[in-house]
Amino acid sequence: MMNEKILLVGDARICPQVAYVMDWQNYAMVERLSADDVSKYADHKIVICAFKRKSKKLASIKDKTLNIISLDDLCCELDKDYSFKAQAAAIEPKVPWKKLAQRVILSRGIIWLVNGVRQHLTFRRQFWLKKLPPKFMKPSELLLRVLYAAPTNIACDRLERNCLVDEAGNLWGCCTNMVRLPFGRIGNGGEDLYNSRQARIVKLSSLNRSYCLCDMRRCFYAQYTDQVNQELKPWPSNRSPLALEVAMDPSCNLKCPSCRRKFHTVNETEQNKLGAITAYLQQQGWLDQAESVTLAGMGEVFYSRNYRDLLATDCKTKTVYLLSNGTLFNQANWNLVKNKFDEINVEISVDAATPATYQKLRGWDFNQLLKNLTFISELKATGKIKYLQFIFVVQKDNYRELADFVRLSKRFKVDRVQFLRLNNWGAFTRREYRQKSLLLKNKYLTRELYTVLQDPIFNDPIVDLTAFAPYLTNSAKRYDKRHK
Ligand code: SF4
Ligand code: SF4
Repeated sequence: MMNEKILLVGDARICPQVAYVMDWQNYAMVERLSADDVSKYADHKIVICAFKRKSKKLASIKDKTLNIISLDDLCCELDKDYSFKAQAAAIEPKVPWKKLAQRVILSRGIIWLVNGVRQHLTFRRQFWLKKLPPKFMKPSELLLRVLYAAPTNIACDRLERNCLVDEAGNLWGCCTNMVRLPFGRIGNGGEDLYNSRQARIVKLSSLNRSYCLCDMRRCFYAQYTDQVNQELKPWPSNRSPLALEVAMDPSCNLKCPSCRRKFHTVNETEQNKLGAITAYLQQQGWLDQAESVTLAGMGEVFYSRNYRDLLATDCKTKTVYLLSNGTLFNQANWNLVKNKFDEINVEISVDAATPATYQKLRGWDFNQLLKNLTFISELKATGKIKYLQFIFVVQKDNYRELADFVRLSKRFKVDRVQFLRLNNWGAFTRREYRQKSLLLKNKYLTRELYTVLQDPIFNDPIVDLTAFAPYLTNSAKRYDKRHK
């Protein structure tokens, strides 16, 4: 298939996207194909990038010896191995029954009722495609949803560069709760999930600037440009992730109320699963090929046996990001990483500026943490750590300490203080989350939080409030107007 010559006929925005998903590199493209041009392309596979009813307008060819297919045929090819049951069974940890029912009702139910044929209806209209949860969509439906989605003014390249591995072995292009579909899940085979059709469709949603598989209500990182750019981005040349984020082990020495209700260290069964994930990463060579490796998006990097093992292996990446709660960041653990990487960057999540709040939110001794932060700051001062960032997840119990936290961070000479919105990872009920998050419907902050954030200290260049950007803009309109 790689050496097959392909001619794509159709819209200049649609054709390259189809070629990207199908991984066709050797292709020509024309907007219309007339009978006179046919002889030129006799040895090509001709793909009309439109459905049958429209394809006649693009190419009115009667020669039956030619190898011509339309978007309908391509959709059938994409769906040929699709199994709704297998897909539903693979979704972990729980199948949200409402979403499952939505697909069943929309797809199988209607068809059964209408003509009794035991098959799945394939949705093609954008109206329905937008309603279906991506997890329950067939590959062809996903392709159509992304292919025809309108570009936005969002600027983000995470889906093209990143790959995050979670505890179930899913590979994600961005944080698990921000993007709606993983690239795939590590199974028994050693297949290249990063370049699978599903992965390409997910990446395409960024390359065509639609971000239609992202959940923008939860997204922290996206920047916005002034105008909508219609152009497709150049296709990425990397066939393995440039930034690998390993977030597979939830083991941690703390139990923060925002994250979990009890301490968790993986048991033997979980350990076997994590062993298989590590083996996959090593087999694919991603730990060596990635420009940077981030440990650990979940759990504590110096507490988890798996992360410690990864740090002990001879991984050849040059840059490492260590995400830690800082409580175990001491000389003994520093010895695991020192002199191993060209560049070590450290991000410490703290979430408090006083001992009482730290005890409440983290259950640990604040003074012990300060000692470790002093140690980290010395490593930064001597150039052993290249970049140092503190993270603060804003919530009801700590929002009054935001300004103090900036002052504390400046004492430790950090490069950046990042304030993040509280996320509900399943530890809160909806009601608890609403009370604790200080976020209101339609992207407003509560008045208390908005007032705290008016302190000029938040204009300091080290302060990063990107996660709150749309909330601050909306709240300014609401509260400042009333003040006037
Ligand atoms: S969810 Fe946000 S940060 Fe993630 S890929 Fe989409 S736009 Fe980028
Ligand atoms: S330190 Fe991080 S991983 Fe550990 S319990 Fe707290 S939020 Fe969760």
